Amino acid sequence: GPVIGVLALQGDVREHLAALTGVGVDARPVRRPAELDAVDGLVIPGGESTTMSKLVDIFGLREPVDKRIAAGMPVYGSCAGMIMLAAEVLDGRPDQRGFAGIGMTVRRNAFGRQVDSFEAPVRVAGVDGPAFHAVFIRAPWVERVDPGVEVLGRVTGGPAVDRVVAVRQGNLLATSFHPELTGDLRLHRYFADLVAAAR
Ligand code: GLN
Repeated sequence: GPVIGVLALQGDVREHLAALTGVGVDARPVRRPAELDAVDGLVIPGGESTTMSKLVDIFGLREPVDKRIAAGMPVYGSCAGMIMLAAEVLDGRPDQRGFAGIGMTVRRNAFGRQVDSFEAPVRVAGVDGPAFHAVFIRAPWVERVDPGVEVLGRVTGGPAVDRVVAVRQGNLLATSFHPELTGDLRLHRYFADLVAAAR
């Protein structure tokens, strides 16, 4: 089966490793370029995108990850990971940088202060079964997508009415919410299938 790495510089790495293991994947932390070489797909976890951006440079992973993405490696980013996959970030730090990723504009911490965290149902196109019980923690939303970016899910909650929170462009997948925190493994299964198909 496919080997899937979790970018293990910062954030909820363990939860993603556990979710991937739960769907039968050989899941490994990735901190070094040599570890990246050994995986077929990569998860970028939730956490803090500004810190993650700095650590990506410190650990020498920026160019290797950009190259693998250009070569078609599947990547799934949740929350901060979504921000790391966005071509454009609003309300980011001026020095934060993502990967050469999804043609979209995301707004960081978009749901606002009164609702730093909330939960709401989200249906994801291509994933069968009930709506996800989606957990949002100082989450971004997607404000704009290029043609060719598929919108997979939307949410209404807090100040948000029908905001885009799940997208896919080719082998790149991103969600504003954290399926790794709720024990619902359907999105990790979806990603594992995508990695298997790309291999
Ligand atoms: N607010 C965080 C950021 O800007 C994301 C929060 C999260 O990943 N739970 O990166």
